[in-house]
Amino acid sequence: MGSTQKVVVVGAGPVGSLAALYAANRGHAVEIYELRSDLRDPSTTPLNFTRSINLALSERGLNAMRHAGQPRLIDHVMAVTIPMRGRMIHGKLPNGELYEQAQDYDVHGRSILAIDRGGLNKRILDILEDMPNVTFFFNHKLTGADFQRNKAWFEVRDTETREQRPKEIEVQFDMMIGADGAHSAVRYHMMKYARMDYQQEYIDTLWCEFQIQPRKESQPGSTSKFKISPNHLHIWPGRDFMFIAIPSEDGSFTCTLFAPVARFEELEADAAGTQIPEFFDKYFPGVTSLILPEELVASFRQNPHLPLISVKCKPYHHSSSVVVLGDAAHAMVPFYGQGMNAGLEDVRILFGILDKHSRENGTAAAIEAGVLPADAAASQRALALAEYSAVRVPDAHAINDLALQNYTEMRASVLSPAYRLRKFLEES
Ligand code: FAD
Repeated sequence: MGSTQKVVVVGAGPVGSLAALYAANRGHAVEIYELRSDLRDPSTTPLNFTRSINLALSERGLNAMRHAGQPRLIDHVMAVTIPMRGRMIHGKLPNGELYEQAQDYDVHGRSILAIDRGGLNKRILDILEDMPNVTFFFNHKLTGADFQRNKAWFEVRDTETREQRPKEIEVQFDMMIGADGAHSAVRYHMMKYARMDYQQEYIDTLWCEFQIQPRKESQPGSTSKFKISPNHLHIWPGRDFMFIAIPSEDGSFTCTLFAPVARFEELEADAAGTQIPEFFDKYFPGVTSLILPEELVASFRQNPHLPLISVKCKPYHHSSSVVVLGDAAHAMVPFYGQGMNAGLEDVRILFGILDKHSRENGTAAAIEAGVLPADAAASQRALALAEYSAVRVPDAHAINDLALQNYTEMRASVLSPAYRLRKFLEES
């Protein structure tokens, strides 16, 4: 982007925070509006999760952070992540013996990284906090936007005086970045201006979080704080469902059960709580020796059973005034481990294109093409945002489709003899 502009970012999740960092590094006046209170405040519950979850961070996300212009961000990430060099498939042989089968992700030994999502988010917010051209507005919910006049309205939630009617404020901007997640209000309001195609799908799967606790120091023969290999993403494939575990720095694992809605309903109806450990013993052998049966039951009952949504839309922008990024543009099912990674990559690609138009002085071309009259900076942005949608929509749709396909791979194909033969041939 050329001259200094007012950039309003809606949503302070990982993608909105990184977008704010890119905009702030270019000298713009950045305002971040976030529905919830500050994530760094211990009383704030992470969105959709009981606690912060850990995710698989891969090259897309890393590369976006490398280009954020803040070396301390990537240094922090490298210091707090755990490399996972492959999958570890857990199963049971016909004779009842348990087995583990490691499947490396890369012939050259490269790894994906396990990272605490909330920790990463907080780190970016800390960096933004130090920047004089960034202002945070927590407890501000976007309720309306006019993308012809570049105005938006936010409901201000006073956490101290919940009794009072919330007040509304009006905000003017040059460009709005909508990074407000799968149920994006920015996208909803943008649809009234852009001729947007939109598609959403809830898959027939719910997810619930569990925890493998770190190994206790006092356990005889314990050499590691991790009960299972920390350098793998662990999978218990169950054909129609699966259980996975991702390592955390403290020696624990964040685990997730993915299963069809009907299976969740059956287990929810189990008043005695006996079916849940039995289900795990039958389909995810070995898990009950890592998580006590009563902990399994407690987690299943206490933690939310959440849906999975896949969203596709196009274009991602309207004129020079707004663009949606991350889950707001392309929420995807988590089986390819690319939702956040692709969202962070959106930021790198968007600002790369904005910079290019700024350098090439696209203003004249925009006016000549009749895309936008008047304001030169707005004309440059309109061209840049149009290019961003054209470049990004096909890629994001492809990642979205791959994510859906990878569920079959993770829960079932890894078990098939043909898959194992192919893997064996690839590796030998
Ligand atoms: P969000 O994280 O949803 O943030 C949106 C923000 O906008 C929130 O803070 C919200 O409070 C705020 N907001 C919402 N509405 C408004 C409003 N009206 N006004 C103001 N603010 C608003 N991705 C990976 O890359 N790797 C993985 O391994 C991985 N595993 C996953 C596992 C599971 C079980 C799930 C569910 C997802 C996983 N993902 C993974 C996906 C990843 O969590 C998301 O893609 C990522 O969090 C999206 O970030 P975001 O910033 O776009 O949106």
